[in-house]
Amino acid sequence: MASIVRLFVDAPLGTGQGITLTDQAHYLANVMRLGAGDVIHVFNGRDGEWTARIAAAGRKRVELTVEAQNKPLQMPPDLWLIFAPIKKARTDFIVEKAAEMGAMRICPVQTDFTNSERIRQDRLQAHAIEAAEQCGGTYVPEVTNLQKLGKVLDDWPADRQLMFCDEALVGAGEFLTATTKGPWAILIGPEGGFSDKERKRLHALPYAHAVSLGPRILRADTAAVAALTVWQQHLGDW
Ligand code: SAH
Repeated sequence: MASIVRLFVDAPLGTGQGITLTDQAHYLANVMRLGAGDVIHVFNGRDGEWTARIAAAGRKRVELTVEAQNKPLQMPPDLWLIFAPIKKARTDFIVEKAAEMGAMRICPVQTDFTNSERIRQDRLQAHAIEAAEQCGGTYVPEVTNLQKLGKVLDDWPADRQLMFCDEALVGAGEFLTATTKGPWAILIGPEGGFSDKERKRLHALPYAHAVSLGPRILRADTAAVAALTVWQQHLGDW
């Protein structure tokens, strides 16, 4: 049997709730060929996952009735992934992987050597939603607008630790050894790495833990997945 379709819906979920879908109607009715009486799974990032039955299906509109909760909301650890956006496809990859790996918030930042000055926040948010749909997640990480790294550091919350992935430590064997639980963030630089000025500031921050990701320089997208893996294994929900 084909697996049950899982959709993110931007609507409150509760038994008996009716939902009208327009954007996803074509996918459900024409691509998946679902019709009245068929069941799908829906989640909204807040209320867990629910079973919903199709009440009526047309090309432009699908009406759902929410039945019962399947899974409670499972929050990821309080982890932000802060990264400098690179080429479009690689940035998309980073957002998708961060959602699958269990980041709570995804923050693109402009650094001294960031290649890309602009991002499409709405597109990246849509990638995070798609990733949550396919990985069984009940939470969708928020993708923030592009901000300057300096501003993010100026506004830093006092209790949040930072795993600073510093390519200058390549091969130095400086791994993540901190045992502090609670809010964390991972910082990954752009293809050009961090500037000396940025590196100096980052090393001086009391909440920053500078780490190496092994003896090879990784591309930023690889580094993001590697850092999320290391953090999740060491301090996260694995
Ligand atoms: N152009 C730079 C490399 C940048 S790699 C140079 O040649 O030095 C992009 C980002 O991935 C880096 O800023 C860092 O955050 C991360 N990264 C890649 N490899 C790493 C490693 N071995 N240790 C720590 N961070 C690494």
